[in-house]
Amino acid sequence: MFKSTITTLVGFIFSCSLYAQELTPKETQLDKRLSALRNELLVKADQIKLSIYNSTFTQLKPFIESSALYKLLQSMPKGGLLHCHNGAIANPSWVISAAASYKNCYLYTGNDEKEFIYGQLAVFTKGHAPTGFVPLQQYLQHDKKSADSLLKLLTLNRHDLSDYMDTWVEFEKRFKRIGNLANYRPFFKEYYQEAFNELLKDNVQHVEIRYGFGQLFDENNDNYPADTAISDLKAIVAGIQRTHPDFTLKLIYSSFKFLDTTAVAKALSEAFQLKQKYPELITGFDLVADEATNHTVGYYTPVWNSIHTQEKRYGIAMPLYLHAGESSTIANTNLQEVPFQLNKRIGHGLNLVYFPETMQQVKTAHNLVEVSPISNQELGYVSDLRNHPARVLLANGVLISINSDDPGVYGYNGLSYDFWIAFMAWDLDLRTLKKLITNSLLYASLTEEEKKRALLHFYNEWNRFVEAANR
Ligand SMILES: [Zn+2]
Repeated sequence: MFKSTITTLVGFIFSCSLYAQELTPKETQLDKRLSALRNELLVKADQIKLSIYNSTFTQLKPFIESSALYKLLQSMPKGGLLHCHNGAIANPSWVISAAASYKNCYLYTGNDEKEFIYGQLAVFTKGHAPTGFVPLQQYLQHDKKSADSLLKLLTLNRHDLSDYMDTWVEFEKRFKRIGNLANYRPFFKEYYQEAFNELLKDNVQHVEIRYGFGQLFDENNDNYPADTAISDLKAIVAGIQRTHPDFTLKLIYSSFKFLDTTAVAKALSEAFQLKQKYPELITGFDLVADEATNHTVGYYTPVWNSIHTQEKRYGIAMPLYLHAGESSTIANTNLQEVPFQLNKRIGHGLNLVYFPETMQQVKTAHNLVEVSPISNQELGYVSDLRNHPARVLLANGVLISINSDDPGVYGYNGLSYDFWIAFMAWDLDLRTLKKLITNSLLYASLTEEEKKRALLHFYNEWNRFVEAANR
């Protein structure tokens, strides 16, 4: 069924000449310009002794931002962002300034404990903040460097990490630090509005979030049901669609790899109930967390085996969009354990290159691999971006798309940085860029009708981009 849908859509995009192997004369002209811009940047980086492929993102960021290539890529329509997480999709500098507007937002400045860690933001009613918390406004007024110190605590900077530090432990602290604040309903609404605005500004038309439902609260209710988060998100999207009618959002219900099968089965049931109620928004299921220290994909086989029965009971499909192979070792066999009959896309799939038979399975199952270059380097899976496994996947005809994963934690927003890095490090050309973007819509969890509309919109935007970029 999925395969025939894709065949129809491929026919459709062929008719729009989106997948055309030959570039139009205008595209060829732009392709040459892109290539020239890359060569200029390589010379410039050499002159200032900047290592483009190995530097930390924080070191490289100003160089990216000052480049004409970045400006050009910002204006490029980028289709869909298929892989990002709700705890890290808005710019962290914005998070700090928005949080500072709430008098009831506090910052924990005590020693790390089980419940609270240094730098954790949380909202309390007056007089109820536990020991160790200071009002954020007071903390920020303390001295000029306070905001910078907080920014460091909310972002992961590879430069600051010593070899002996556990990257994932530090990474997860960033999520914990904004977790409570992000569930405070007034902030929650502002946060998603900002995140979507940032993506729209960067010419991303469709967003899919690996979404973990938290305990949404405010002064009136300390635990809103998931329906409230959904209705708030739908209201935000409806507001955006008044000016950007082609903007779309889907949520992939996400639970955690550190939970046992009973807890994940419960989460899957909730996902079914929500998807039955909101099929236009909830589109699938996934599990997140460090693959090295948590349960394997295969551990959850009893849960995956229950999906077929539940699909019948609820009368809806529950495709999987599993994180798998976010690892550099063959000891991680998560990719081999993916139930391909249920799975549509793979998050990361970095060690897929070590398993040629599984790679073939991924191709046969028409699974797209969601690649996140900056995230992969920042979390230490790839040191030199020229050696990113995505190049091997591309060379073997595996479908991929470009994603940002957790831009908030890496200190940026939008998708242009990831495209910049992929373009520079993987010797991409315009034809491949267009293919990666088309993939991001073709393999989105949109309905067939929504995909047609999205592809048509992209096609028009693409032509406009090529035209303007050549001017
Ligand atoms: Zn992820």
